[in-house]
Formats: sequence, C-alpha cells, structure tokens
Amino acid sequence: MGLMTPVLKGYLTDKGFKVCSDAVQVHGGSGFTEHFPVSQFMRDCRIALIYEGTNGVQALDLVGRKLASKGGRAVMTFFQEIDQFIGENDTDEGLKPFIKALAEVKAQLQDGTMWLMQNGLQNPDNAGAASTDYMHLFGLTGLAYMWALQVKAAQAKIAAGSSDPFYSTKVVTAQYFIERILPDAGAHLTKLKTGSATLMALPAEAF
Ligand SMILES: Cc1cc2nc3c(=O)[nH]c(=O)nc-3n(C[C@H](O)[C@H](O)[C@H](O)COP(=O)(O)OP(=O)(O)OC[C@H]3O[C@@H](n4cnc5c(N)ncnc54)[C@H](O)[C@@H]3O)c2cc1C
Repeated sequence: MGLMTPVLKGYLTDKGFKVCSDAVQVHGGSGFTEHFPVSQFMRDCRIALIYEGTNGVQALDLVGRKLASKGGRAVMTFFQEIDQFIGENDTDEGLKPFIKALAEVKAQLQDGTMWLMQNGLQNPDNAGAASTDYMHLFGLTGLAYMWALQVKAAQAKIAAGSSDPFYSTKVVTAQYFIERILPDAGAHLTKLKTGSATLMALPAEAF
C-alpha cells in the first residue's frame, strides 16, 4: 500500500483533471462558461493535484523513499504478482493482446526501475528529474494489469452466456486503453532516462 499510495494519488489525479478538461472540450464554448457545471468540476478537480501532497512531491516520495524501502521488496512483489498473472494466462487466446501489452509495459517499468537504481543513487537529481515520468509509467503498468484482470472477468461472463453489454463494453474499453493510452509508457521511459543534466543546466538567475 505504501508503494502504491503515491502512484494512485499522483497518476489518477493527473488523469482526473485531464478527463475534466476533455469534458469541457466536449461542451465547446459552453463548457468554458458557467452554463454547465463541467467548468466547476474542472476547477474542483485541479486541487486534487495540489493537496494531500502535491503530485510532484508524491513522485519524489515514490522514487526517493518507497521504491528503495526494505531493499525494493514492495516493487519486487508487484513485479512477481504481474509475472504470475502473465504465466497463468499467456495461453488464453482471448487475453493474448492484453497479456502482451502488460508484459511489454512491465518490462518498461523494470527498465526504468533499473535505470533509477543505477543513476538515481549516485546523483539524487537524476531520481528527482525522473520521478514524475516514473510515477506515470508505474500508473500505466498498474492500469494495464487492472484492465487485463477486468477483461479476464468479462470474457468469462461472455463465455458463460451473458449478453450484458457491460462486459463487451469492458473488453472494447480495454482495447482502447492498450491502443491509445498505454503507448505513452514508452515516452515516459524515454524521458525519465534523459536524466537531470539539462534540467539543472541553467543557473537560478535564468529563471
Ligand atoms: C483548497 C485547499 C484545501 C486545503 N486543505 C488542507 C487541509 O485540510 N489540511 C492541510 O493540512 N492542508 C490543506 N491544504 C494545504 C495543502 O496541503 C498545500 O497547499 C499543499 O500541501 C502544497 O503545499 P504548498 O501550497 O505550500 O505548496 P509548495 O509546497 O510551496 O509547492 C509548490 C510547488 O513546488 C513543488 N515542490 C515543493 N517542494 C518541492 C521539492 N522539495 N522539490 C521539488 N518540488 C517541490 C510542489 O510540487 C508544487 O508544485 C489545502 C490547500 C488548498 C488549496
């Protein structure tokens, strides 16, 4: 729970605000005005990125404290749980694209974790500079796992004869997630590996 707290708080509130912003966009100009409550939702959502630990500070907590705690036991447990799920389900034809996507993003998260171990300990600025991208990569990995679990449950219901559109909708939404949202993981990994040199290059007076 300690490891997941910054991931859940930081990733989901960032995305929650994005969802509210998209909702304003859907309403066009009326969304921006006070015609509809959606503009108020957007402002109300914005505070969630700030209070209860700003998302930047949550990301620092994740890489600086939670990750390394007890020799990385929590993150290793998370990886093991995903590996076990993949091992138990990788021959399931219906789950194949979801298992493949999960395995790929988990490998990216492991890669990012290794990079942090190798570069963050010797230079804490590298850990700080990577932290928000790492938190988002972690959030995407967690969601890929959650979507795979949901697809498994939905497909079991469909196979058992359910025609409730709730289940077929779940599968399509999961497909959308792996096609249109999960690829962001690669960008986060690339960014986090650039380190702190450019971020720290300018003197304080330049700001
Ligand atoms: C509507 C509202 C309700 C609130 N309710 C409560 C409440 O009920 N109880 C309560 O205790 N507090 C409450 N707060 C306060 C809230 O918890 C703080 O605003 C929040 O923790 C951020 O602190 P700050 O405003 O001092 O910003 P700062 O700490 O000054 O942060 C400013 C920016 O700097 C970044 N930053 C800060 N430190 C670092 C660092 N070391 N390295 C890199 N970046 C850093 C932050 O991520 C942020 O982007 C509330 C605030 C608001 C606006």
